[in-house]
Amino acid sequence: MAKVFITRKMPGRAEELLEAAGHTVVCWPGEMPPSQADLGRELSAAAGAITMVTDPVGQDLFEACPGLKVVSNMAAGYDNVDPEVAAAAGVWLTNTPGVLHETTADLAFALLMSAARQVVASDRDTRAGGWKTWSPTGFLGHDVHGATLGIIGLGEIGTATARRGRGFGMKLLYASRTAKPAVEQELGIERRSLPALLAQSDFVSIHTPLNQETEGLIGARQFHHMKPTGILINTARGGVVDQDALIEALRDGQLAGAALDVTVPEPLPVDHALLQLPNVIITPHIGSASEATRAKMGEMAAENVLAVLRGEAPPNPVNRPASSR
Ligand code: NAP
Repeated sequence: MAKVFITRKMPGRAEELLEAAGHTVVCWPGEMPPSQADLGRELSAAAGAITMVTDPVGQDLFEACPGLKVVSNMAAGYDNVDPEVAAAAGVWLTNTPGVLHETTADLAFALLMSAARQVVASDRDTRAGGWKTWSPTGFLGHDVHGATLGIIGLGEIGTATARRGRGFGMKLLYASRTAKPAVEQELGIERRSLPALLAQSDFVSIHTPLNQETEGLIGARQFHHMKPTGILINTARGGVVDQDALIEALRDGQLAGAALDVTVPEPLPVDHALLQLPNVIITPHIGSASEATRAKMGEMAAENVLAVLRGEAPPNPVNRPASSR
């Protein structure tokens, strides 16, 4: 039986499932992620690892940990591990798709609504004693119903967010690598080029993975295309947006606001320029953070490890090592 190292205390039955199969589970006790040195030490005798988006696993760790067979990321995204580097080292990389898209879309829509209707700013003002009377001009926001929602990256989360938009009577546009005729049919969503989507949307919500192609995809040129009343929502990855350009665009009034669950870096230092802007909402990367969804993600991550340790292909592979260890 093998050692499985988990980089943080997990919700749900993940540990139980691994232990029931006879494996030795070691769970990092800290609130903060293990350092690279700690990770190397723990993985040196491990056959399986359950990692989070906060845990980079690279070539040096694969070389230093010859017994490691699988890195099971408890996330849909996997920009913390290069799938090809892992495959070349003979290590499976897995993720947890299909269980967190609705929960993450809920957050994308919560951010959209909060930014549109100044939920955070008005709550802050109320707590500070600013609620003096009903005001005909206080906290005027933007209507969501009837507005146009532009989705960048119409995958699982993008589609689930578009469904919510449809429920609110929004006009729907998308820009994605490939056409999605079935979703177009289901939701009446129309495909646009990225510049056209940016120019026509009142709300732009980002749902691409972070990779070489999407890094900095939304920057100064793209903000110029957006409406000055436009609001940007990002629940994908901070690196998809050129953050310095976003700060400038928000300061210059090129767009009205932004609501971000993901930033560069994470966490943001409290004195960061983004946190000084009144028209920005920031949540601490909590897209998938519901009790039920995190429990499902944990169980799925455990099932991926269990399959590899049984000598089988995992149910949710991101790569396919030519020869596994
Ligand atoms: P997905 O189902 O793989 O969808 C990604 C979509 O992005 C696909 O439709 C893909 O197009 C499209 N895409 C890729 N490159 C693009 C480009 N250059 N331009 C336009 N579209 C592009 O992934 P998902 O489950 O929806 O998740 C999306 C991302 O959300 C994840 O990678 C992760 O980083 C992030 N996420 C964040 C949280 C959070 O807590 N905030 C939670 C979960 C996920 P094709 O269909 O043509 O390939």
